[in-house]
Amino acid sequence: MTNTSSYRSQLAGQLRDAAAPVRTLLSDLSPADVPLPYAVDILDAFIELERLAASGKVLIAARAAESEAWRRAGSPSAAAWLALRQGTDTGRARADLETSQQLGGLTGTADAVRNGELSPQQAGAVAAGASVNPAAEDDLLETAKSDSLRHTKEEAARRRAEVEGEESKVERERKVRAGRKTYWWSKGGRWCMYAEGPLAEGAELQQALENRIGEIHRDRRNGQREGREQYAYDALVDLVCGRTPTTSDAVVADRPRTRESVRRLMLVRVDLAALVNGAVGDGDVCEIPGIGPVSVEQARTMFGDSILRLVTTNGTAVIDVVNPARKPTEAQRIAKLWTDPKCCVAGCNRTVDLEYEHREDYARTQHTVLVESEHMCTFHHQLKTLENWQLVAGTGRRAFVDPDDPRHPHHTPDPPESPTRAPEPPGRPRAAPASPELRARYDAAHRAARRAE
Ligand SMILES: [Zn+2]
Repeated sequence: MTNTSSYRSQLAGQLRDAAAPVRTLLSDLSPADVPLPYAVDILDAFIELERLAASGKVLIAARAAESEAWRRAGSPSAAAWLALRQGTDTGRARADLETSQQLGGLTGTADAVRNGELSPQQAGAVAAGASVNPAAEDDLLETAKSDSLRHTKEEAARRRAEVEGEESKVERERKVRAGRKTYWWSKGGRWCMYAEGPLAEGAELQQALENRIGEIHRDRRNGQREGREQYAYDALVDLVCGRTPTTSDAVVADRPRTRESVRRLMLVRVDLAALVNGAVGDGDVCEIPGIGPVSVEQARTMFGDSILRLVTTNGTAVIDVVNPARKPTEAQRIAKLWTDPKCCVAGCNRTVDLEYEHREDYARTQHTVLVESEHMCTFHHQLKTLENWQLVAGTGRRAFVDPDDPRHPHHTPDPPESPTRAPEPPGRPRAAPASPELRARYDAAHRAARRAE
């Protein structure tokens, strides 16, 4: 019979033995002496190592908490005990423990963690959705592997909301509302502010700020440019105090206030069936894009607000028109915000200042149709127009690549054989590169080569 505690200590011993050479390598690491071209490779190796260790930790954490070692150590909770051991705050440790517990019931996610494919935070985001809606596990795993953490969290919230009862959503909104708070303090010569409240009100507040940020941005176009965070602060001061704070450029001073001229639409995405039935059904949506899911009751309340547009659909597609102009119609613009509230580049989380892009060249098609369009943020749009970056083939959120990448739609492949390389033995198939990323590039390069023949 295996003694569990000695088995565990044996495993721990093996892990410590495995760590010893890393410790030696680390003690010899002098970043300034690393030739620049190798720095990224070394960084990647450490990230891989970190992920492996973090995966092991998140798998075992709940089991370690079960041992009640935290009680014996005099800690008030398992989270406080773990926080002290791993040197994080209690919130982080609590989230790690919660993920660890949820992984027990999610085989696919646990396997992805074991393979080092997900960070603990990514696993936590997947588990938060899949533990409530198990049918969403595979989709969320795919999202986590190919897109940003924030996008994964948003998708998880949406999939959770699909199966969460309307009553519990209303109840949660009531609790959040009861616990709303704003406080401020000063520290080191800075004044700071924190606000927390229901999603719907937050979305309205955010919209008012976005509108004002847009105006400030436009008004100062010819003056000294500052960052979005600075404009956001100015917008807050302006909205609360009714003035624009003094800044290094005073271009706005003599200009008449034209607050109404720059307006961004605030959308509530809700399926018609949900709105009528008062609850979301399977696959239905009721959310404020970029903010999160809300109850249908909340959406109905917001419907009364004149600055809101409610886009309803019948479950599947927004009805589209073929528009002969280059610019999308107002209806198309709203519909696009409904279907794609974010930049189409995988990993990009921008939801403001989105450019409407024609996937097919307008000069050729001479029409504007929703299904042939993309939403792209200003930053990625500039990379596209100035440096010829392109989205890879396909639709939806996907990779955005530079002109040298084999997946670039206009990439010209290098000659397949280098003249200096020895010829391969006849009949032996060439081995494909190991990683999925390299394999995809390899396949795309070969497809492109075949097309060019
Ligand atoms: Zn973007």
